[in-house]
Amino acid sequence: MLSDNLTNCIYITSMLIDSETNVITPISRRPLLSVAATDALRAKIESAAWVPGARVPTEKDLSAQLNVSRATVREALTRLKHEGYIYSVQGKGAFVADQPGMNSFRVDQLLSENPIDSAHIFELRSLIEQNCAALAAERRTAADLREMKRAMKKIAGEQKNGGLGLEADIAFHRSIANATGNPILARFADFVGKHTREYLQVVRLSALKSAHRLDDIEREHGDIIDAIELRKPEAARKAVSRHLANGAPHPDLARVVI
Ligand SMILES: [Zn+2]
Repeated sequence: MLSDNLTNCIYITSMLIDSETNVITPISRRPLLSVAATDALRAKIESAAWVPGARVPTEKDLSAQLNVSRATVREALTRLKHEGYIYSVQGKGAFVADQPGMNSFRVDQLLSENPIDSAHIFELRSLIEQNCAALAAERRTAADLREMKRAMKKIAGEQKNGGLGLEADIAFHRSIANATGNPILARFADFVGKHTREYLQVVRLSALKSAHRLDDIEREHGDIIDAIELRKPEAARKAVSRHLANGAPHPDLARVVI
């Protein structure tokens, strides 16, 4: 379960770094070792304990400090390279990048490391999707509209079979973003939306089912489609804003999860 991993991840991460002294303490739990090691090293860079241009300690030193194998350290360093935090120089080792982390924007990391702030991600998602809906209301084709309606029917079908309609919901929101005709915007909206939706729906599985939220969601989706069909950008924007505000996590929810 995502929520278990989330809890483990938060637990491990909070054990690793003492924010006052910035000392890395050994990792004692087996699961997610390389993730935890990556988080620990990334935190050194983000807290500026390791500044841009500084040489990253050797695999051997990091292995001793973190109390993990060198293979785990290697894996963590590879991840940090992909994320743009560090780079290697042949024969000299690894160094902190000039603009660490600018290679990536990791929604999953923001959600899992600091669930209290997940409301901020939902705000970002809402701003993006409100604008997508407004543009879709101006630009949508008949085919776009058919796609939205098909996805909405699919959500109802999945829910009838006892599911949440998560995949179909993702497809519904994607169909709105696609109708903007801007493939980059559509991709970014899909990326942010997918992460927030998976997080939220797994965490709130039982709450969603018991609170009749599923019926509300269907009505809200209908309002969005109506506004887009009638080519009313402001109404579409408002309908998305309402829909996502109703689905966003209350800050207290994150505390319950932890
Ligand atoms: Zn939705």
